[in-house]
Amino acid sequence: MTQHIPEGLPDRIRHYIDGEFVDSVGGETFDVLDPVSNQTYVQAAAGQQADIDRAVEAASRAFREGPWPRMLPRERSRVLHRIADLVESRDARLAELETFDTGLPITQALGQARRAAENFRFFADLIVAQADDTYKVPGRQVNYVNRKPIGVAGLITPWNTPFMLESWKLAPAIATGNTVVLKPAEFTPLSASLWPEIFEEAGLPNGVFNLVNGLGEEAGDALVKHPGVPLISFTGESRTGQIIFGNAAPYLKGLSMELGGKSPAVVFADADLDAAVDATIFGVFSLNGERCTAGSRILVERAIYDEFVEKYAAQAKRVVVGDPHDPKTEVGALVHPEHYEKVMSYVEIGKSEGRLVAGGGRPEGLEAGNYVAPTVFADVPKDARIFQEEIFGPVVAITPFDSEEEALELANGVKYGLAAYIWTNDLKRAHNFAQAVEAGMVWLNSNNVRDLRTPFGGVKASGLGHEGGYRSIDFYTDQQAVHITL
Ligand code: NAD
Repeated sequence: MTQHIPEGLPDRIRHYIDGEFVDSVGGETFDVLDPVSNQTYVQAAAGQQADIDRAVEAASRAFREGPWPRMLPRERSRVLHRIADLVESRDARLAELETFDTGLPITQALGQARRAAENFRFFADLIVAQADDTYKVPGRQVNYVNRKPIGVAGLITPWNTPFMLESWKLAPAIATGNTVVLKPAEFTPLSASLWPEIFEEAGLPNGVFNLVNGLGEEAGDALVKHPGVPLISFTGESRTGQIIFGNAAPYLKGLSMELGGKSPAVVFADADLDAAVDATIFGVFSLNGERCTAGSRILVERAIYDEFVEKYAAQAKRVVVGDPHDPKTEVGALVHPEHYEKVMSYVEIGKSEGRLVAGGGRPEGLEAGNYVAPTVFADVPKDARIFQEEIFGPVVAITPFDSEEEALELANGVKYGLAAYIWTNDLKRAHNFAQAVEAGMVWLNSNNVRDLRTPFGGVKASGLGHEGGYRSIDFYTDQQAVHITL
């Protein structure tokens, strides 16, 4: 396979602070690999404390003295709409770079670029429609909410769908008048390096958006511990979330945490079987399985279990794995050799924990690159590691159940609680199960549809707080109560 290398790759990836591209103060860099050749294709600036200090200083100045927090919502909204237009107009280039850096299939990377534009458009509209509460006691008093931006928001993002997930934080943070320091994931810094040009063209004032690349334990850690950053919005692993929680505690920072998952897809015998198979295939193998809401445990009622497993395995074997830049590809290359090793180690563990019915290693004909064949284990017991632990790759565990009670116990029997998918034609059961399952988000007989006004977030080890719609606005603003006696 000849590898597609995008034209015009940067010769190095730098920070962007106060409207300028800069290297690390001490000149530190780290290697960035592409997941098809696993060769270093560029060096990125590795931010340290001094770089975070510079970025926070610029963001604080823009907040204190700049026009952005004081602009009318309508004026900020115009800038956000221009950002959305620019992202949309560059969607093909964004997708090309994202695919090159992450290994995501190109058609899916294109969808993610469009979602990034939509995130900006959505929050651009929301801030002009925002209404705040007023409470009156007739003749006695008036009380109203004075909503204010908070200051410098620290945004720390993961490597799966990096550009889109950055937009999910950037859009509400700046829409509400804050200034930001973004620390993107070190595996995938390429697409974030496109934000500065987009923001400049859209007319975002200097210092509102600052970008510091680098490792989590260095740049990320310094951002979390910076006293000038009152808010941290983090998306990543639950374990990292715990560390950040601890490090932010002495400063009593506002925290929003979108963490890991091991979400169940529960298929009852009365479900539309073909629709359930299609959706659960998509649910775990799209985005290379590197999806926080992946339905990575499928629980199937005993009466249809054998038929389901047979159909599922057959369909998993038809999923097209290959060159991420090929529009026919459905599963590309996993992001990084370290992550590939992790996923492969779970594939090996799974072989002694369940019955392998599809995949189980590197696909034939793809001798290099981080490729894993869509892998399906059936008969997986609830105490298996592949049932309990987040793998974050194209690997799924299927487990039978005999009753609704057992299905619920299995669904809830993990530390995570991000998403759940329920397949049944019994309306009452669907709603009762949905309301009992420990998950922040539930999809009934559906997959991957979501209105941006709804809450997004998890329970248990999957997160803390909700973003989405006005909840994001609430996270990024202070709601001061003002009381007047009449
Ligand atoms: P990760 O936790 O390793 O890293 C996420 C980010 O945190 C990176 O930018 C990293 O550099 C930074 N970081 C690491 N250690 C840090 C520290 N000590 N202090 C500050 N920052 C630090 O996660 P990942 O491997 O990049 O992403 C995959 C994980 O993200 C999975 O667990 C997935 O489920 C989760 N995720 C959750 C959601 C959601 O919305 N719930 C969405 C996408 C991904």
